[in-house]
Formats: sequence, structure tokens, C-alpha cells
Amino acid sequence: MIVRTRFAPSPTGFLHIGGARTALFSWAFAKKHGGTFILRIEDTDVARSTPEAVQAILDGMKWLGLDYDDGPFYQMQRMVRYKQVLQTMLEAGSAYYCYSSKEELDALREQQMANKQKPRYDGKWRPEVGKTLPEVPKDISPVIRFKNPIDGVVAWDDLVKGCIEIANAELDDLIIARADGTPTYNFCVVVDDSDMGITQVIRGDDHVNNTPRQINMLKALAEIDSKIIVPQYAHLSMILGNDGQKLSKRHGAVSVMQYDDDGYLPDAVINYLARLGWSHGDEEVFSKQQFAEWFDLDHITPSAAQFNTEKLNWLNNHYIKTTDLGLLAKDITRRLANRGVTVTTQVNIKDAIALYRDRANTLNELAQSIAYFYSKPQLDEAAKEKHITTDILPVLNGLATQLADITWTAEALHAAVEHSVTSNALKFPKVAMPLRVMLTGGAQSPSIDAVMAILGKDEVLARIHAVLS
Ligand code: GLU
Repeated sequence: MIVRTRFAPSPTGFLHIGGARTALFSWAFAKKHGGTFILRIEDTDVARSTPEAVQAILDGMKWLGLDYDDGPFYQMQRMVRYKQVLQTMLEAGSAYYCYSSKEELDALREQQMANKQKPRYDGKWRPEVGKTLPEVPKDISPVIRFKNPIDGVVAWDDLVKGCIEIANAELDDLIIARADGTPTYNFCVVVDDSDMGITQVIRGDDHVNNTPRQINMLKALAEIDSKIIVPQYAHLSMILGNDGQKLSKRHGAVSVMQYDDDGYLPDAVINYLARLGWSHGDEEVFSKQQFAEWFDLDHITPSAAQFNTEKLNWLNNHYIKTTDLGLLAKDITRRLANRGVTVTTQVNIKDAIALYRDRANTLNELAQSIAYFYSKPQLDEAAKEKHITTDILPVLNGLATQLADITWTAEALHAAVEHSVTSNALKFPKVAMPLRVMLTGGAQSPSIDAVMAILGKDEVLARIHAVLS
């Protein structure tokens, strides 16, 4: 059987981390089996769906590199098809018109609640052999209900959660088309999954309750058309925040594009999501392609996964360290421009990045840490007071004179600082620290000769003299 999976977001908000993981797992399952991954936009909730949210989903998928083989399909563009299937089901007797008024249903519900019964439709308009239906009222536009089996159970072997079984008696005759003729959510999903030949439905476990209803409808459709299959289902557990609570905005429930803004690389986010509730031995660091080769539904943890920002940062640092410098340079140039810092050719940005990338958890940190190469730093007052003491000024003056005449290489610069240290009988930091504050603005940086080598002679001397004069 050719594998066909889908990601079916409702465009009522951005693509968040949970949705992205669902998309990634569906993508990977299709890739692993040489199948097809479909994107379907479930936009029938017109009041809550927006074009901006559709765009945000498409942008998020693109940023993550989750390419789909088919789609995007939009449910709103498939109305004719849904109505056609409704008609077929009415004709086959697996769906029926229900004329119960809202008042009638409200009264029924109240009565059932008063009797401590579970509120449910009483089957008034459900056709049965030998049953005479009430006379059709003239003033009521009917809804269409699915004729759910009354007896037996609906069961499926969930590929994540194991066997799940629900008694049909628990399920109502679901409304599948409203009085205005528009099809309802579960019905559209069923028609789409069957039309699109979906073989595995991989989705969040907030949909577990929908699955028995959807399976029953698919079975009813399969009776009409034997080519229709009931897919396998894999329900992914939810993702909890760092604090073990429901994912909140502070703890990851933000758009995946926020991760871009915050300085995360898509490869790091993908790698992180892949490990969120799935494992392959002790492997922690792997590419999207590697993930697609390894991915299986057997190694998904049925319990909730917990978001861990530290781990994401660790992975992001790994990818920052290993990503091509040219790509990083482009990204960091953009981030610096957003901060009003223009990258010029005087300082080779790749060298600056190479010097700092080991210590950056995010691209924003990296941009921040190399900004001083391109704009004069604001000197940290405490560091200035501590390190740029009056006794050291003559030494720095002497060093500056010496620097003016040397060949500008890290080795020669190191030798010059070393010479200034020894000839004045000082310890290395006594000279290196004030220099660091003058050049970088703060007391922390990689080796000072490497910083000077990248910053260039003119700028180094200008910054030293700006403080000395
Ligand atoms: N549209 C649903 C959602 O965004 C997903 C439906 C499904 O995967 O079956 O939650």
C-alpha cells in the first residue's frame, strides 16, 4: 500500500510548536515509506479562519522545510464534493434529515439532565425498518444526521496509544450538515481523508474523541464504495511546557516563526521537535533527512512530552557551530541591520562569527556579541572603572605606538601584547583586560589578539586613542 499522510491545520492561529511536530511526524512517515505528504487547510470555521493564519501556516512550513507533495487543499473549495457525498449517504440510508427544532432539542436535553441521563438525540427522525416517522414540519429546515450504529463497538489499534474501543451506544447520531446545508467538521475530515486516500492519520490526541465517529462514517462510506479504506490512526500526546503545565505563550506556545525571530535555526527546531516524544536509541543530533530514514511510529512515547528550552538552546548552539559560515553571515547581517548596525567590508563577518559562534545559544546572541565590530561599543562603566586604571594608561599608550607599526596578524598582535606585559613586569590580564574593555565595550571576549586581528589596525588604534585622549 502506498503511504499517504496529511497535515490538516485549521487556520485559526499561527503554526505553533505542537502543530509543527504533527506536521513533521506526518512528513517523516511519508518520506520514510516513499509515500505522499499532503497539506490540507481546514478552513470551514469561517468565523475563526483568516487568510493571515493560512499564510502563517504556509510560512511556518516553508521555514521548517516541510515540503508537501500535494496541496494545499482548502476545504472551503470542496463544498460541492461534500454536498455530493451527503446526497449519496442520504440515498444509501446512512444519513437522514432531522427536523427536530432547537426548542425541542433544548427541552429534551433539559429533561435528560434532570433525569441524570447523558444528553443525547432521541432518534425521533432516525429511520428504522417498520418505524413510521413523524409528519415533516413545513417551517423547519432540517439538519442531516449520520445514522450511527446502535449496537457493538468501534475499535481501532492506535499506532501510538494501542487499542481503543468505544461502545456505539456512547455515540450520538452526529449532525453532518447544518440547517443551512453546510457540512460539519467531522464529516469534511472523513470525506477528505477518504478522497485523498489517506493511509495513516497522524494528529494530536485532542482528536481521539472524533476518531470513533469518523471511523463509523468511513465504514458507512466503504459500504457504498468498496474502494474506501479506514486509515490507521496515530494520536500524538500533547506537549507540556517547561513547567510541566499546558504549553503557555511563555513556554513555547508561540508561532514557529517566533523561533526564527528569537534566533533559532530551522534545523535545530526540527531536530528538537523530532526528539519531542520520539527516540532512536541515544541519538540526539541528526538531520531532517536522517530523521526521515529512522522515523517510525513504534518509538513514539504515549505520555506527554515536556518542552525543554535548555535542550533546544543546546541543539541550536550545535547547529550554529556547524552551519555553513556563508549562510550564517547572511542571517547575522540581517539581524544586525534590524538593530541598526550596518555590516561593512572592513571587518570580515565570517571571521567575527567564527570567533563567537561556539558560545552563542541563539543567532540573536551571536549578532549581539559581534555588533561591536561594526559600531563603536558603549563601554561598560563597571568594567571601565575596574580595568582602565590610571597606572595602566602609559603602558597602553606604549602598546598603541607599537601596534601602529606591526604586521596585522593574530600572532604578531599576541607577541606585541606579550612584550608590553613583560617589559612592564605585569601580568597578562593587566594589559589584556583594559584593552578588551576599550575594544569590545565589556570585560568578556575571546582572545584579545583574535579580536584585534579581526577589528583591523585603524579601528583598534582609534578605539584605544578614544579612551586615552
Ligand atoms: N483541523 C484539525 C486541527 O487543526 C486537525 C484535524 C485532523 O488532523 O484530523 O486541529
